[in-house]
Amino acid sequence: MSGTPVSGAPRLVLATHNKGKLRELRELLRGQVPGLDVDTQVVDAAAAGAPDVAETGVTFAENSLLKARAVAEATGLPAIADDSGLAVDVLGGAPGIFSARWSGTHGDDVANLNLLLAQLSDVPDSFRGAAFVCAAALAVPGPDGIAHETVEYGQLEGTLLREPRGEGGFGYDPVLQPAGMDRSCAELGSEEKNAISHRGQAFRALLPSIVSALSGTGSN
Ligand code: IMP
Repeated sequence: MSGTPVSGAPRLVLATHNKGKLRELRELLRGQVPGLDVDTQVVDAAAAGAPDVAETGVTFAENSLLKARAVAEATGLPAIADDSGLAVDVLGGAPGIFSARWSGTHGDDVANLNLLLAQLSDVPDSFRGAAFVCAAALAVPGPDGIAHETVEYGQLEGTLLREPRGEGGFGYDPVLQPAGMDRSCAELGSEEKNAISHRGQAFRALLPSIVSALSGTGSN
């Protein structure tokens, strides 16, 4: 397997190619599982030789499970995946699972954000509620397919600004101001955002299931 770490075989795979998410997950797991070397034994999909998985579900939970299951089956290792997006109240929860491709081009953050702002230009401040939402799934393989799976959720509620603010973060961060704050998510430091974020909440909620899936599995 390419990229196999030197100090121990992989024990947990994160079904993503996003290095930022891998870094976040490793920090969350550090010191939580006796004998687990997070830097070498928690790996991403590419390092585990896992395939890309199409997000064909219609909910965040379905998409996170699709990815976690496929990677667990392909690698024979417990796998974690997340799916997230922005849910806007007056749009009935849209862009939702279409957040990354709202403008028609997958991953064009600026076009997605500008389209959303244009759609909401007439919506008064009191109706600009929205939330980042995340589902995080763990799939654990067994002798006959997936033996166990769990999904946990996180939500970061706030208000949509009228103009982008801040240089940090990604996606819709410049237009979501978390409830009780006077800054957009793009004006928060990464640790500050992780502490309150939808993804941080979902991964933290999944932690006990991850710990129990890894306890007793072979360490180096
Ligand atoms: P994914 O789950 O990482 O694929 O994210 C889907 C899309 O949702 C991203 O492309 C962003 O548009 C949006 N999104 C998810 N989480 C965040 C966040 O923390 N900040 C800003 N945008 C986000």
